[in-house]
Amino acid sequence: MTENRVLKGIFFDIDDTLYSTTEFSRKARDNALRAMIHAGLKVDFEEASRELDEVISEFSSNYSSHFDKLIGRFPASCIDGVNPAIIVASGVIEYHQTKFAELHPYPDVLEVLKILSRTDLVLGIITAGLTLKQAEKIVRLKVYDYLTPNAIFISEQVGISKPNGKLYLRACSSCGLKPKEAMYVGDDPRNDIDACNRIGMITVRHNRGKKFENAQGATDPAYRINTFWDLLGILRADFGLSA
Ligand SMILES: [Mg+2]
Repeated sequence: MTENRVLKGIFFDIDDTLYSTTEFSRKARDNALRAMIHAGLKVDFEEASRELDEVISEFSSNYSSHFDKLIGRFPASCIDGVNPAIIVASGVIEYHQTKFAELHPYPDVLEVLKILSRTDLVLGIITAGLTLKQAEKIVRLKVYDYLTPNAIFISEQVGISKPNGKLYLRACSSCGLKPKEAMYVGDDPRNDIDACNRIGMITVRHNRGKKFENAQGATDPAYRINTFWDLLGILRADFGLSA
């Protein structure tokens, strides 16, 4: 019989771990583009979509003026007679409407977090991104009620980003955990798995997102999961969780 390993806390990545970021972003961007075309942008949807993908890859997904940049890339005749601000506003509004309606966690995520929140485990977040944007996701995804309030670490707020090991070490030490007593669940083989393996955390790769489907890291995760039910099974089998 193998002895259970000691586990005192679990930190989660947000994007493509708690919800399908890729699927949500596509839907929100497509809806925004349709609204912009409806408001007077005379560009074929497919062309606008390709151009928006380029804007996002060139200026990053956290850039705040994607739609202004998008319009600027088309000839002036494409917005003939329409105030560009109206077209941008139409896109922004539709993007946010989609966010209000469609930003949901994977259903098993809430169910499993609810079970884990009844245990002594520290349950936290380590995420790379803008403070307000990532905090909004935590609240909107309705996971906050199940988390340990002082266990949320957002790279912009901490001032250290993935894959710098100092970010994960800061999270562990702030919660009184040794890295080997803490688990990290994420989808990115390099930023999540390699980075946490390097500092001795227990790594779990969540395989559901499409973004890193075919990506390989330098190291293997300790565990792989397809749903959070798989995670619960691991915690029960290898870490003596009785919940
Ligand atoms: Mg991720």
